[in-house]
Parts: sequence; structure tokens; C-alpha cells
Amino acid sequence: MSKKTKYQHLIIYFLAFLINIGSANSQEFAYDKVFFENSIMYGSYYFTSVKYSGKSWIKQTRSKLPVSDKYAFTVGNSLELEYSSSDEGNWSAIVLYDDIRGIDFFNPATHLSFWIHIGIVKDLNSLPKIALLITEEEISKEIHLKKYITSNNRNWQRVLIPLTDFYNEISSSNITGVKYSQSGVTISTNQLFIDQIELVNISNNRSVEQNPELTSTKGYQSHVDIKWKPLVDKNIRYIKIYRSIKDDNNYQAVGIQSPWIPGFTDFIGDNKSTEFSYRITFLDDNYKETSFSNIMSAKTKIMTDEDFLDMIQESNFRYYWEGAEVNSGLALENIPGRNSMIALGASGFGIMAIITGVERDYISKDEAIDRFLKIIQFLKEADRFHGVYPHFLDGETGKIVPFFGLKDNGGDLVETSFLMQGLLTARQYFDGKNIREAEIRNAITEIWNNVEWDWHKRFPNSDFLYWHWSPDQEWIINHKLIGWNETLITYFLAIASPTHSVPASMYYSGWASQLDEAIDYRSNWGNTTQGSKYINGNNYFGIELPVGVSNGGPLFFTHYSFLGLNPHEMTDKYVNYFENNKKIAQINQRYCIENPKNYIGYGEDCWGLTASDGPYDYSANEPKYEKDVGKMTPTGALASFPYTPEASMKALKNYYLNYGDFLYGYYGFRDAFSLTDNWCSPLFMGLNQAPITVMIENYRTGLLWNLFMQNENVQTGLKKLNFANHYLKENE
Ligand code: CA
Repeated sequence: MSKKTKYQHLIIYFLAFLINIGSANSQEFAYDKVFFENSIMYGSYYFTSVKYSGKSWIKQTRSKLPVSDKYAFTVGNSLELEYSSSDEGNWSAIVLYDDIRGIDFFNPATHLSFWIHIGIVKDLNSLPKIALLITEEEISKEIHLKKYITSNNRNWQRVLIPLTDFYNEISSSNITGVKYSQSGVTISTNQLFIDQIELVNISNNRSVEQNPELTSTKGYQSHVDIKWKPLVDKNIRYIKIYRSIKDDNNYQAVGIQSPWIPGFTDFIGDNKSTEFSYRITFLDDNYKETSFSNIMSAKTKIMTDEDFLDMIQESNFRYYWEGAEVNSGLALENIPGRNSMIALGASGFGIMAIITGVERDYISKDEAIDRFLKIIQFLKEADRFHGVYPHFLDGETGKIVPFFGLKDNGGDLVETSFLMQGLLTARQYFDGKNIREAEIRNAITEIWNNVEWDWHKRFPNSDFLYWHWSPDQEWIINHKLIGWNETLITYFLAIASPTHSVPASMYYSGWASQLDEAIDYRSNWGNTTQGSKYINGNNYFGIELPVGVSNGGPLFFTHYSFLGLNPHEMTDKYVNYFENNKKIAQINQRYCIENPKNYIGYGEDCWGLTASDGPYDYSANEPKYEKDVGKMTPTGALASFPYTPEASMKALKNYYLNYGDFLYGYYGFRDAFSLTDNWCSPLFMGLNQAPITVMIENYRTGLLWNLFMQNENVQTGLKKLNFANHYLKENE
């Protein structure tokens, strides 16, 4: 228990207030810290920890609390507490905070709030005790729920407990869990349901003034997309969605959406053609509901393979179009996440998704031109270090955000190369003679010409490019770029630059280096000498792999550099990279079929290990026993469409038709899931959504490959590298 005084308590609140002002300046707004809203997965809730001992008992599934679909305060589900308490035993259930990357601007809270529905409780004395967790060890005073219950009827009732009842003082951002535990003795089994556990500030009594209005509904196989008029009222806590079979007028609440996302995907899973009607309401901080919106209808339908590709390309495209940061028009790191922090590499991928969106008629070319004028205006004025962009920028101010730590406060050459891959594609795409398109082309040329790729050699005769440079700490991160990984595009563009190029020999001295340190680097990545000399030559699951660390590594190695760079045209002295990438994808699928760790779901239609969000971290999964933790990442198989169209289509249909109810949302597939752990990421990721749209387009039409490869500087790069180059031959 902390011993700070009341005065210090006020200081904490005052600091929190200042931080909120700062965040308001950079478009970040504060929100309540939510411990439980809905479980994405059925059955049990991943972020819980349940124990019992002696003659006491609490219902659990592999130490997780059960989820009830039958009872819910916020539409979806609630947590079920079913227990019996003995004086010769004990039980406890902790609901842990799911620490989402970038969700770190919390309202200073005054109360713990949750909603309770009493199922079977004969004696209120046997209601649980409640405590708050700072760490596993540091637990607050335990207090009796009974004291805060106003009635034992079976309606949902709100429990509001002042935080000062737990601690003398506490900052909401330090609270990591809510613990429910045994109190008293039960005669028989008790059952209650708990929902919407959060830390709130009860002085927030803001009501919603805006009237809800639906603007579109569109039916697909098994789901309907719903959109509403943009939200202007900051007091809207949730959008609540109601559905009825058309003309039945029997509306049921089917979901809630947070204001972070401008629409809702209602996954029905009916696999037939049915016409549904929708209407929505808004909820305020106190869950008071507005009146209903207008009604709109849409019909679900059976879809062809082509329809599936269209649908998936469009939903993932929306992340970069509707989900973009407002001021810069560029991509956020993840949604939900920071609202004003843009990620430069993801933005480069998103630029290619937006171009795809024009060609697929999701938006008009004029709308895209407006967006690109905004993008280039922002990029021209944003922080750069020797022409190199950092990993993250503040979308409002254009200043660097050292989100990965204070050492990473300068240029990031790899992120810049992903951005430039997108920008060079755009320079090729906007080829109109009008002033607006010329302005886009000229700005991109200026940005491209200013990138000092040669600065990142660090030494005049360097063998390697270096990933980061800091204005005050220089080369402190000291990360040399050594392939095989996602940085082929970085070497390629550095060699292709018309103004700050590095020697073409660095492709073999750096990227494919044979120096001891490069061999060590590769051995350390894969924890094996296989592939440590860049070339590999071993057989994995019956497939001989010419180039690659370990048995090929995570699949993003075959995606990020090849959104623009056409691997068909990339043949160095070792291999053709389309053939090599295809083998890496096939190895990945065969590993998942073999499934040596017996994870649930893995198979020919559930494969694609790569980098993604996980229950507790973002990490790279690989098709290897030691590097496979059981999480599956949809972008792995779906961005591999050009390499493995049949296997990728199988995965697409499996993910959508069998898991769509939890895995598919407004911005496409959620980042990752684990059936073994019964966990699904709440996130859509900037790095992982666009490669799906872009690589499916490359598979269907070659659009982005053709644009990027036609660029004259790219052609120069290929010439310098002396790669087999069909474009040059055809265009001579
Ligand atoms: Ca709920």
C-alpha cells in the first residue's frame, strides 16, 4: 500500500490533467480504461485467471472465466461467475487488463464501475469481495460487493465503487486487474454475471446531442456492412446496432461499436440470401440511449471466388482510407490504438492499397488525388533526418514520435524504403497532365531525391547499410541490414537512387554478405547455421529452399519488399525471387499441415505464420517448432496469393466462412488468432492489412508491380544490379 498523502494524490491528478491537455494538442483524446466490454471469442475470456482450492469451487475453462452469450449488458456477452464457497477453501477470479499498444491516454478515474446481473444468489453475504491489482503481488484492500448492491432483483444494475475505498490514492493507468474472490459461505451454488468493467470519472455526465443516421448498408455472403453519418459529438460512447428480418419489425440488438471505427460489420453467417433491416442508436457515458436512426436494408447473397477477393480487398483498403489519420491522410500503427501517430512503412503499403481502391472503383481518382495532395503536403513538412523519415510521426505536428524508445529518435531507413516503394508507385500512377497530378509527381520526386541512402552507409567504404540514425546519439542502435529478411527493398532503392545512391556491389557485400558477422547474424536469427550464408539449399517438408535464413522465416519477408518490386523480375546470381518466395510459402503451408505442436485449427486451409500481434506481444511466428506459438495470422496466407493462389483461397474461405464471426471486421481480418488459446487480437494492423489488398491485386492484374517496375529509377536499379529484367527487354 502506498503511503502518499492526499496532497500528492492531487498532484497525480493534476499531472494527468496536463498530460491530457498535451494529448489534446496532438489529437489524442482520453478515454476510460476498460477491463471488459465483450469477449471476442466464445466460451471463455482469455484475459482472466481463475483459481479455487479445498471445498470451494468456481466454474472455469483452463483457468479462464466462462463467457455468457445469454446475458449481456453491453450487447455481445458478459462474464459468468458461478461458484460455491466453503469455509474450508477459497476461490478467486482476476480480470486482467489487455494492454493494447498505443492505448495509453486514460481519463483520470474516480470509480470502478461494472454492471451485475444476479442469477442465483440466496444470501447477499455470499457475494464476492473485490480488489484492484497493481501487480500480481500488489493488491489493494479487499471490499465486499454487498455494500454497493442496491437490490437483489434480476435486472442489470450498476456497481460504482470509489477508488479511494481500495487505495488512499491511485492513478487509473497503474491498475492492471480487478479481482473477485470468495466471501462468506454459500448454501448452494451461486451464479452471477458481470459486464462492462471499467474505471470511470463520475463527474463525466455528458449527454449525446447528435442524432444517429445510417448512410449505407451493403450485403455480402454471411454479413452486412453498415455505415453511419460521421460522428461529431465527442460524447458518444458506443454505437448500438439493431437488426431485423426485413418487414418483420422485430429488431434485436446485435452489437456495439466504438467511435474509433466508422462502420460495423454484422456477421450473420447465414450463407444464403436474406434481406435484413438495420437501425442504430448512440449510448452516452452512462449508457443512456438516444432515439433510433432511420432504417436501411440490405440483402445477403452467395458469392463467387472473385466476389470474395473483391470483398477482402475493399475491407482491408478501408483501413488506409476511412481509418487514416485525419491531418496527414496516412496510416495509423494499429486500430484501435494511437489516433494521431502515423507509421511510415504502413503508410507506404497503404498508398498502394489506395491506388488499388481507385482501380477497383471503391473511390474515384479525384478523391485519391485530394488525399495524395494532403499526403505530400504533410510529408514535405514532416521531420526527416538526412531525408530519411522516422518510424513514427505525429500526424498533427509532423514531429517524430519515439514510440519504440528514446534511442529510436531519428531516421529509419527501412520504414523509409517501404514508404518510398509506395510513393514511387504513386508517382507512376498519377500520370495526368493536370496541375494537381503534376504537383503530386513533383513532390514525390523531391522527397525521393532528398533521401540520403548513402548517409546510412555510416563509413565511406561500408559493406552494409545501417537501419537507424539518431541526431544526438548517431549510430547507437547499430543495426546492420543483412538479408534474408524484409529489407531487400531498402538495398534496392539505395542502389536505384538518382541522387544519393550506394554502390550496386553492396547488394552482395551487405544484403547477401558472406562476412563472419553476417553469417553470425543469420545464425542468431534462426538459431541454426542453415541459411546462414544467405544461400540455403536444404530440404524442408520435401521442398528445396535455395535462399533464406532457417527454413525461410516469417512470411512478411516475401511480402513487404515485393508489394512493388516484382519478384518475377528479380533474379540475382543465386535464385529467382518469385520461385524462392513461392517455396517459402509452400514450406509454411506444409509445416501447418504437419502441425508438429498439435495446435487447434492448423491445416491446409489454416496456415501463414508471420509477424503479428499476440496475446501479450507483437512477434514473428515461423514454420518451425521453436518459433510457433499457435497464433495464426490471416495476412500470412492472404498476402501470398501471387505465390500460392489455391492454398491462399482455401485459407481465405476458411478464415471467413468458419471464423468470420470473430475474425472478420470493418477493416478486414483481425490481426491474429489462436484457437488453442481461445484468443483473437482486437487489432487491425497497419503493416498487415494493406499487403492483403495489394498482393491480391498483384495476383489478379499485376497493377502495383507494373507501376513500380515501370519507374525509370527502378529500371536503372535493375540495370545496375544486372538482374534478369523482362521489362527492359520488352521495352527496348
Ligand atoms: Ca458486454
